[in-house]
Amino acid sequence: MKKSPNKQLSNKQESEICLNCGECCKRYFITVLPDESKKISKKLKISEKTFLEKHCELHIKIYPKSVKGILTFPSTFFPQKIFDQIKKEVGIVNDSYFVVPQVVLKRDIVEFTGKKVCTFLNENNFCKIYSVRPEPCKLFPFIAVEGIREQYPFCVLFQKTHKNLSKKSSVYFKKVKSYFKKVNDKKFCGVWKNPPKFGQLYLADKYICEISLEELNLMLMDQKE
Ligand code: SF4
Ligand code: SF4
Repeated sequence: MKKSPNKQLSNKQESEICLNCGECCKRYFITVLPDESKKISKKLKISEKTFLEKHCELHIKIYPKSVKGILTFPSTFFPQKIFDQIKKEVGIVNDSYFVVPQVVLKRDIVEFTGKKVCTFLNENNFCKIYSVRPEPCKLFPFIAVEGIREQYPFCVLFQKTHKNLSKKSSVYFKKVKSYFKKVNDKKFCGVWKNPPKFGQLYLADKYICEISLEELNLMLMDQKE
């Protein structure tokens, strides 16, 4: 009998199909939310400060936006270095931007692949923090419905199961939305007590420059002035 394309498989069934190729751990920046950061540091038996310092970095995305709203900031208050770098990379600087400040797992070049991968992936393509891995890892490839399958040709699990995680993903997206609301209300350092000190800034998916926590805080705090 032909299997239903959206048949839900158990975790065991899924793990039998998954090739452990580790491709899903090599391609993406994994967002960490504050409660996940606490759980992972506890599992690693290190302080949250050490976890965020050693294993995480800032990942800031900005999108041009003219309408006022949460996390929307005028570019005139951006640090000069960032303003200049946006101009250099894309030619123009918009009046204001939606700023998406995230903490992500660090990716380092590792000997066994020669590529940048999540630092928790071991040489056998197993996750060193599997039981407490962040939600995006559990949900990969997120809302995997018909029509976007071609985006994940490297994932045998997805090709064979047509995995549909739209329900679970929508719960996660609500959590992310609430995180951004908190950052908007309490500021980034009000949500993260000891955030990573450095990371990268992107304009949508285009890399712009390195960014420090100090520079991020200027971008986010100047709206108050
Ligand atoms: S935390 Fe684990 S599952 Fe997630 S990307 Fe890293 S190695 Fe892969
Ligand atoms: S890309 Fe797909 S098949 Fe490969 S490890 Fe990830 S889930 Fe498994």
